[in-house]
Amino acid sequence: FNYQTARFMTSAPSLVQCPPDQGVEVAFAGRSNAGKSSAINAITCQKALARTSRTPGRTQLINFFALGADEARRLVDLPGYGYAKVPEAVKREWQQHLADYLQARRSLQGVVLVMDVRHPLTEFDQTLLGWADEQDMPVHILLTKADKLKSGAARAALQQVRSRLREWEDLVSLQLFSSLKRQGVDEACARLDAWLAE
Ligand code: GDP
Repeated sequence: FNYQTARFMTSAPSLVQCPPDQGVEVAFAGRSNAGKSSAINAITCQKALARTSRTPGRTQLINFFALGADEARRLVDLPGYGYAKVPEAVKREWQQHLADYLQARRSLQGVVLVMDVRHPLTEFDQTLLGWADEQDMPVHILLTKADKLKSGAARAALQQVRSRLREWEDLVSLQLFSSLKRQGVDEACARLDAWLAE
């Protein structure tokens, strides 16, 4: 698919306001500041499709992007989680929206989970993997900001995360990624292509 055709469709504060649950979509999740917006922008070759956050945790909306002329194939930007300054009650509410979306959304084919290669598998990353597992939902992990590590250290981090996820290896795939260097974009697009072809 041509991800450069991605265009903003709509924002939804919760599952009930999402566009009709038809066609296919792939959702991006990740801790605030992990590099999720940058990854979406790198994959779609657009500078500001997903807004990179100057205030982490500010975008608490589910953003939908249509691929191509119709709205049958979509990329979805889920709210970033884990930003420390957000009140606990708000955090819980957002975790609930995320859980609802993952559990109820029939058009969802897979989740791209973005993690900073230097801080992988945060507690909430693991919670999200647990939810995905309950739904038999495949997850593709982007270990991003790989440019921040020497290549040997980045490969070692990849191996370490892979071994920690062995119990989920049927559902989870992972790769190194860098939005800055455009490393791993083709590999990520191949994963999206497979999901969106379904
Ligand atoms: P989000 O909150 O997960 O959407 O994160 P952003 O995409 O806004 O990125 C958070 C910060 O990390 C920003 O300052 C980005 O410029 C930086 N960043 C994101 N991706 C990369 C990357 O691949 N390499 C480097 N060096 N910095 C990155």
